[in-house]
Amino acid sequence: MPNAYFTIEKPKNDAFNGYLPGSPERAALKAELEKQAAQVVKIPLIIGGKEVWTEETIQVTMPHDHKHVIAECCMAGEKELNMAIDAALEAKDAWEAMPWEHRSAIFLKAADMITGSYRQVLNASTMLGQSKTVFQAEIDIAELADFLRFGVWGAQEIFGDQPASSAGVWNRQDYRPLDGFICAISPFNFTSIGGNLPTAPAIVGNVALWKPSRTAVLSNYYYMKLLQWCGLPAGVINFVPCTGGDMSKYVVSHPKMAGFHFTGSTGVFQSVWKQVGENIASYANYPRLVGETGGKDFIFAHNTADIEPLVAAIVRGSFEYQGQKCSACSRAFVPASIWPVVEKRLKEQTATLKVGDVQEFDTFMAAVIDKASFETCKGYIDRAAASPECEFVAGGSYDDSKGWFVQPTIIRCKTPTYESMVKEIFGPIVSIYVYENDKLDETLAICDSASPYALTGAIFAQDREVIVKMERALRNSSGNFYINDKCTGAVVGQQPFGGARASGTNDKAGTVLNMIRWVSPHTVKETFSPSSAIAYPYMTEA
Ligand code: NAD
Repeated sequence: MPNAYFTIEKPKNDAFNGYLPGSPERAALKAELEKQAAQVVKIPLIIGGKEVWTEETIQVTMPHDHKHVIAECCMAGEKELNMAIDAALEAKDAWEAMPWEHRSAIFLKAADMITGSYRQVLNASTMLGQSKTVFQAEIDIAELADFLRFGVWGAQEIFGDQPASSAGVWNRQDYRPLDGFICAISPFNFTSIGGNLPTAPAIVGNVALWKPSRTAVLSNYYYMKLLQWCGLPAGVINFVPCTGGDMSKYVVSHPKMAGFHFTGSTGVFQSVWKQVGENIASYANYPRLVGETGGKDFIFAHNTADIEPLVAAIVRGSFEYQGQKCSACSRAFVPASIWPVVEKRLKEQTATLKVGDVQEFDTFMAAVIDKASFETCKGYIDRAAASPECEFVAGGSYDDSKGWFVQPTIIRCKTPTYESMVKEIFGPIVSIYVYENDKLDETLAICDSASPYALTGAIFAQDREVIVKMERALRNSSGNFYINDKCTGAVVGQQPFGGARASGTNDKAGTVLNMIRWVSPHTVKETFSPSSAIAYPYMTEA
């Protein structure tokens, strides 16, 4: 229970480091990269605060140098997952009972470490393990600290929101953690999301099992170690790398699974939701299901668009982190009147992008995450090359001899429903449909309906009447909408992130809207002078 004093001020976002040549942060990061690239970290499970070593392990390699092993990670099976459930449930009472200021202090301390001395450990492991350039890793790790600080602040906002009381009566809302444990399953593409999925529920007093993605396990492990160092009690978060299948089989269907916090693909979330539905009668509570899932994010230009910012938005929005941000632009609509100049500038700008090793700081784009992703991208490129409906504006090649490299690729599609215009690819491939200027309304309708997703979208126009029209037409096509800006780069506390339709439950990570899903309010009325009366005053004959 919180005490009566709420003292945390609304946090400010972490300011990024610049990593300019000669800067101390650049030197520190380079040293950490060298150190981490030269070692093979043995990663155990962490259950009930203890390291658990299993025989089954996986190797973690660098996507941009896929023979280079940087970690070996233990995998949990049925036995370890059951141990983790027991450890979480055992830790529950004491964690719930810990004063919220003390719980919060653990996470605020971790945030300070992340933006302080621990920053380069997380940056380097994210760069090497997930193939992020320095800037992409920096904003990821800054977001992790933001999630912690805004999470604690959000919890305070929730706890402070109390019902009205009247004379002689005190009403209060006890925001209990959920009655069971949280199952957190995270994706590869953001260390911040990995960290946030088990931590946000823990901030409001829940216990969790956390299954990280096998391709993000190194940075995620370092975060777990940090939480332990900052005093997270044993069993509150249990770190259990395992297969998705095992997590579903042994954890999702457990009667005490009270909340499911997921980020990843739409297919996996839908399969878990189905599984929960099939098991619904066996749960102690109706599990809360929160999932942020796939996207087919768009940039839609009008003929009044300012060309250079539009081109920059398509290039940065589509290719930063190899198009593997859930918000990455992967389709664009450009009017015929401005297409020739947009096309020319796209070709020129894309040709300048260096694709390569993240340890070379002039790299703009590195490798896609793994072989499966490489094969997916290759498939889309090969089919486009063979299709009369497509022509390459840029890219269209790939090379997996050293790393999973796919060149930044722009495909012009003659039909707006060609597969690469509507399906999530999750790689550095953007498809563009050029529409006739007098077909704006029809093309807006296609943008709205051609794909099942609704995560992010951006429009470019100078004409205000047109901006109003486009915003209205695309109101349900995204959860995060940008006017004259790229569709990526949401900042915690500034552009709360999440999408609707097949893109998720839109519970806006890092906000009160998300944190509120992890509490179950217990409403308490206390009467100071209880009445003994039974009859009411009106019950008298005149
Ligand atoms: P993924 O769905 O392949 O994997 C996500 C997690 O689910 C991993 O830990 C994986 O091991 C696990 N998993 C796989 N199969 C499972 C199963 N049957 N049961 C339980 N867990 C299972 O996604 P990914 O490749 O790691 O991440 C990319 C996807 O995530 C994209 O679709 C992207 O759009 C989405 N994403 C969305 C957001 C958002 O905020 N909407 C943010 C980041 C990523």
